[in-house]
Amino acid sequence: MKNYDVLIVGGGITGLSTAYYLVRNGVKNIAIVEKSYVGSGSTGRCGTGIRQQFTTREHIVLMREAVKIWQYWEESLPLPIHFRQGGYLWLLRSEEALNEYKSHVKLQNLFGVPSKIISKEEIKEIVPDLSLEGIVGASWCPTDGSAYPQDVLDSLRLFLKGNSVEVFDYEEVKDFELQGGKIKTVITSKDKYGVSAVLFATGNETKRLASKLGFEIPIENYKHQIVVSEPLKIFLSPMVVDSSLYFTQTYRGRIIGGTDTNEPPQNNLEATYEFLEKFSNELLRLMPKLASVRLMRQWAGYYVVSPDKHPIIGPTPIPNLYIGTGYSGHGFMLGPIVGKLLAHYIIHGMFFLEEANNLTLSRFKEGKLIVEKAVIG
Ligand SMILES: Cc1cc2nc3c(=O)[nH]c(=O)nc-3n(C[C@H](O)[C@H](O)[C@H](O)COP(=O)(O)OP(=O)(O)OC[C@H]3O[C@@H](n4cnc5c(N)ncnc54)[C@H](O)[C@@H]3O)c2cc1C
Repeated sequence: MKNYDVLIVGGGITGLSTAYYLVRNGVKNIAIVEKSYVGSGSTGRCGTGIRQQFTTREHIVLMREAVKIWQYWEESLPLPIHFRQGGYLWLLRSEEALNEYKSHVKLQNLFGVPSKIISKEEIKEIVPDLSLEGIVGASWCPTDGSAYPQDVLDSLRLFLKGNSVEVFDYEEVKDFELQGGKIKTVITSKDKYGVSAVLFATGNETKRLASKLGFEIPIENYKHQIVVSEPLKIFLSPMVVDSSLYFTQTYRGRIIGGTDTNEPPQNNLEATYEFLEKFSNELLRLMPKLASVRLMRQWAGYYVVSPDKHPIIGPTPIPNLYIGTGYSGHGFMLGPIVGKLLAHYIIHGMFFLEEANNLTLSRFKEGKLIVEKAVIG
């Protein structure tokens, strides 16, 4: 039986980013077990967005640090990840919303994020093609942006391969053997591995795996749909947000975006016509010039949502088991910093950022929820 110092379950951004930082911190004997292909979960289905415009200290500080890593990864990973700081333009439709976002911007600025409230005229300068009827202003951060999810995973995987991390695709973790309250063995669909530490980077499956081990994680899986268009000449660099609608243009020229369909938690990833109709109507209201553009592909993935819309990271009731989940629609952007935090926690038993201490599973038992107001979709 092979033994691993750290066995990571799940080949999305959380799993690969944590493996990257374990390697960077000198851990040698690491495996990632992925039940399908790397990127088959939410990471490969996501909307590419990376932003620091949040409303809590925890999210703002983590995302400020994440953007530094995104910049570093763009320069240092073996393949291009197409990280681009085209900004996030968050449209506001009432004086009340404008005042609320002024206070969010104040908090963001306090922690070093260069966001600001801008006027309709300034919006026009950033995206001339927007119809601004009913818009009173926007919250704007030029250092927000996007990256291409599958390229990020491919690039991390290449780095990990070069550092002897084993990645097992199409192998599902099925069960565990415990000794003295700790996980001693991980049983998969193909093999059995001895482990010193285990990370659940398992997205929408995390709740089910935790309950197998006798503890609860308060997360629910919500279906979210998304669509991409045919490629167009590049004309749009920011992510535009208008209530639950968001869209940007990828480096390949495609418009990518989504909106909320307000469906209950479920285990179903069916793509629907209702979504397509709602998205198209909302998009064309804002950008009528896209009326003749053809939409090419539509799909769905899970937002794994926690009660306070923040991730749940770090220790669990099982002493050698760690988790990274519950991102509530922000896990791609947070992936690099959460991976760095988790690797540090697995090695040292503590976080290196004070804010991360407020993001562990224990906050739900202790009633210490921190509510995020700026959730899209
Ligand atoms: C439509 C949509 C748009 C989004 N847009 C954005 C965005 O713009 N920006 C952003 O930051 N976030 C966005 N998100 C959220 C983001 O995609 C997720 O938060 C993030 O990808 C979570 O990454 P993860 O690695 O934790 O989970 P995942 O990427 O879901 O990876 C988990 C992996 O674990 C594997 N797995 C599960 N159980 C097992 C098992 N028993 N054995 C082995 N493997 C297992 C799965 O197959 C999967 O590959 C979006 C999500 C959706 C659905």
